[in-house]
Amino acid sequence: MTRLVMKFGGTSMGDLERIRRAARIVAAEAGRGRQVAVVVSAMAGKTNELVAWTDGAGAPSAGVALSDDEYDVVVASGEQVTSGLLALTLRNMGFKARSWMGWQVPILTDDAHGKARIEDIPGDRLGAAMDAGEIAVIPGFQGVTADGRITTLGRGGSDTSAVAVAAALDCLCDIYTDVDGVYTTDPRIEAKARRLERVSYEEMLEMASLGAKVLQTRSVELAMAKQVPVRVLSSFIEPDEYGNLPAAAGTLICDEEEIVEKRIVSGVTMSRDEARIALLGLSDRTDAPADVFTRLAEANVNVDMIVQSQARTEGAVNLTFTTGRRDAARAAELMKAAQNQIGFEEIRIDTDVAKVSVVGVGMRSHAGVAQTMFRALADKGIKFQAISTSEIKISVLIEDAYAELAVRALHSAYGLDAL
Ligand code: ASP
Ligand code: MG
Repeated sequence: MTRLVMKFGGTSMGDLERIRRAARIVAAEAGRGRQVAVVVSAMAGKTNELVAWTDGAGAPSAGVALSDDEYDVVVASGEQVTSGLLALTLRNMGFKARSWMGWQVPILTDDAHGKARIEDIPGDRLGAAMDAGEIAVIPGFQGVTADGRITTLGRGGSDTSAVAVAAALDCLCDIYTDVDGVYTTDPRIEAKARRLERVSYEEMLEMASLGAKVLQTRSVELAMAKQVPVRVLSSFIEPDEYGNLPAAAGTLICDEEEIVEKRIVSGVTMSRDEARIALLGLSDRTDAPADVFTRLAEANVNVDMIVQSQARTEGAVNLTFTTGRRDAARAAELMKAAQNQIGFEEIRIDTDVAKVSVVGVGMRSHAGVAQTMFRALADKGIKFQAISTSEIKISVLIEDAYAELAVRALHSAYGLDAL
């Protein structure tokens, strides 16, 4: 019998009525003879509330209290509630169902509390229960260490739980969420955004890490590594009177080879969680950049774009880099504290910046992709402050106020308006 993992996000678990709707969707798949494992998020807003409680009880709020295993005990509870409620609802509908806490499956992780990584999911017990006709309901986000402590996988981690369970059961993973797929860009910014039928793992990985919020980045990494096909589907659907689901729309995230229609650019993303830090008049000692980035790395500050240019003064350069907005103040403090050792004249911090990116596997084999981007931005009078590229993406850093205009201009320049 075909197995299937279905994942429902926080909005789809938002209240009892929504949980009943999710149960009807699960029932429709089980009714078609599928063996179903369901992975659920906490009710929308619940995890934030739980995190706030741990802050109130004394855990440091910035980032996660890395050593704090009790943080995980508290924040993992949101998913315990929804998995029990969904299992109860399914039983009331006449199905065999039971919940499996992370420690019961078990979903084994390392001990990096607050952002643990899954190491192994022995799928045999779960698989046996499913073979016996039981729907398995699993709280997302939760795991357990080898010595039995509860862990969580980082915010948005239920997507990763779902993909990991699908990998363990060797099956497809359907992610039910409040959007009906992956779009060429955020439809709230550009009304002409289109849903993509298919998108490759690599493109999705770039889009997720560049600001598209549909899936946790780590879940896409895992899906790519384990070759798990993932579908993103809307949970705002109803089975018909015969219990059949409407024909699946959504977006399939799959291998590049399985995509017939080749596009140069598949999506445009935007992230406002950016800050730019410039060290002016940095000594052009060969090890100065290494010194700067070692200090940042040791303080766990993630650096994204880096630009080095000639300064006006002889023997000096300007070094510009970007970080997430949350990290900017800390990064600047670190730099100022070490100004003499590093050797620079002045530091500037700008948080009114945004990163706009275009992503597409077709870039590998097409010339002129960057030129189209620069032309489109220039036509709107938008200046860029930094650029970074990979094989399949180009990102520019621009003034925050122009971010949405830039997204629309690029969406049109690459012909995404009229797919
Ligand atoms: N409930 C967790 C969070 O809000 C995990 C998830 O929903 O993916 O981050
Ligand atoms: Mg999510």
